[in-house]
Amino acid sequence: MRITGGLVHEYMVCKRAAWYSYRSVSFENELVMLGKMLHQSSYKGEIKNIFMDNISLDFIKNENGEVWIYEVKKSSKMIEAAKMQLLFYLKWLKDKGVNAKGKIAVPKEKKQIEVMLTDKEEQELNKLISEMEEVISRAKPPKAKWRKICEKCSYAELCWA
Ligand code: SF4
Repeated sequence: MRITGGLVHEYMVCKRAAWYSYRSVSFENELVMLGKMLHQSSYKGEIKNIFMDNISLDFIKNENGEVWIYEVKKSSKMIEAAKMQLLFYLKWLKDKGVNAKGKIAVPKEKKQIEVMLTDKEEQELNKLISEMEEVISRAKPPKAKWRKICEKCSYAELCWA
């Protein structure tokens, strides 16, 4: 199963949406893309506007020799989803031998939240990935639960028509 950062974010927001998304999205391998970009830049300066699977990874920056991945969000409402998404990228980079750190920036709220891949966070991420693999590979999607976000969800007709 090809889990992506975008899918991690989606799963954290709604498991059912992630189930649909996994089946409908034609995956561009965002991790391969990210790897290419990092390789091309040799980690110098910053790489902007990386769009992956409808989730924007806004830029990667080199700050005093440290690689930082930034994720800019409109609000901190879904901060846990953004955190797990960033952890997913940090773990992937770690597996490639790059130790990076993450920041979720919420300009409207003047917030910047640092995200580090500690042992504890890595365990949490691994647990989430295992759960995702199990839930998403089921023949039927998880039951729909109405929430405010359903109003703007592209799968609303599948859930509520
Ligand atoms: S409409 Fe609501 S329950 Fe259905 S997939 Fe979207 S967010 Fe999930």
